[in-house]
Amino acid sequence: MPADLDQLLQGAGTRFKLYPQAPVLAAFAEPETVWVSRKPGSIQPGPADDRLYVVEPIDKPRLYEFPHLPPYRGPTRAPVAPGRDGHFDYLEPGDPGFEAAHMYGTVRRVLDIWEGYFGREIPWHFRDRLERLELIPFVDWDNAQSGYGFIEVGFGEAESGARHPYNLNFDVLAHELGHSMIFSEVGVPPPATMTAEYRGFQESASDLVALVAVLHFDTVVDRLLRNSNGDLYTLNELNRIGELSETEQIRLACNTLRMSDVADVTTPAEQLSQPELHRLGEPLTGAIFDIFVEVFQELLVDAGLIDADLAALSYGAAEDSTHHASIERRFAAAYRGRHDAFKETLLRARDYLGDLLANTWMRIPRDFLSFKNVSTALLVSDLSLTGGRYRRIIRESLAWREITLPSMGELSTLFTGRDSANLEWGLAVRQSRHLRNLPYRERWRLARRRGSY
Ligand SMILES: [Zn+2]
Repeated sequence: MPADLDQLLQGAGTRFKLYPQAPVLAAFAEPETVWVSRKPGSIQPGPADDRLYVVEPIDKPRLYEFPHLPPYRGPTRAPVAPGRDGHFDYLEPGDPGFEAAHMYGTVRRVLDIWEGYFGREIPWHFRDRLERLELIPFVDWDNAQSGYGFIEVGFGEAESGARHPYNLNFDVLAHELGHSMIFSEVGVPPPATMTAEYRGFQESASDLVALVAVLHFDTVVDRLLRNSNGDLYTLNELNRIGELSETEQIRLACNTLRMSDVADVTTPAEQLSQPELHRLGEPLTGAIFDIFVEVFQELLVDAGLIDADLAALSYGAAEDSTHHASIERRFAAAYRGRHDAFKETLLRARDYLGDLLANTWMRIPRDFLSFKNVSTALLVSDLSLTGGRYRRIIRESLAWREITLPSMGELSTLFTGRDSANLEWGLAVRQSRHLRNLPYRERWRLARRRGSY
């Protein structure tokens, strides 16, 4: 098995009960116990730690917007305290404080996962002015936002009119933390250099932050494989992001949009509506989802779990339904009795995706960002991580979406400095005799390097 983040945190961290997906979905009606990276007893009432804190305003008068920014100074509810053992999993759904703890636990968990892929702490983009990220679990608003020093969330409204608090929605919270991470790692461009593609990229990257994070729930991975028989192109819960009911979701990662289906990227960012900006990022999200599925299938072939012929058939499968039925039958036959081997392979593909994205985000510019910068960084990152093993998959997936690719010449000039630093880092850690003293993220990163994807 590839090293599991939970194995590293179990016993060392603090327990929370989290819903892997919106509790409105029947399959996820029960929260799961997870471990976050802070030692029991170190998380203060709030919950609060050295990087994040929850504050629950009583009737917050307005949304945060410059110049109204954290810290919140109005009247608040009492902070939520841990149990006597220092853990928060004593709180049950419906208890006062459960929602606040759920928001903290989710954001902390997603941050732990991504700091694992980065192999280091992700600093806040607002660190010059504020030390910690403020989390507001409820504002009277049918949306959620992430900004300078805060994440604040309201509720989603299903077509039935039912309201679902976003503080219990893992995808929405992970997406908002995704924005904060991208503000930190890529940067916040000034208006003069902010492109529509930067905004579309922000939405796409935030959805992918949620997608990789949700694949760290055992129940999600098990259910995903059982429902799809390992054929991830079939529509299922992994592809849905920010679900509101069994049938409604905000966006689909598994979409068929190409660049010619979305707004012209030369449109100034401020002239596009929020839905248009989300849509602009969808071909990129779709391409990266395809890369993930293709890498998974290639790893299945390597492990002897499916044959190369089936992988090739499902690659860009035609819409022809008999063709599709035959692919489904063959996946079902391959998967039967081999859940654990499929799962191990899926987790390898997940960790490749996490490493690929973290690597990519460290390489792209904040100013005048174009999707071509992103496609270039994806190719260079794969070269750095695997020696270019998935180059064909990455190129073909992006090209199908009509996303501009770099030439080979452009690529070779970019593969320099930072990559040799990466290799040296790996050597330094391998030589360290005191692995147990390394923080969980370095140990996890090292274990992933030993395994292959
Ligand atoms: Zn967003």
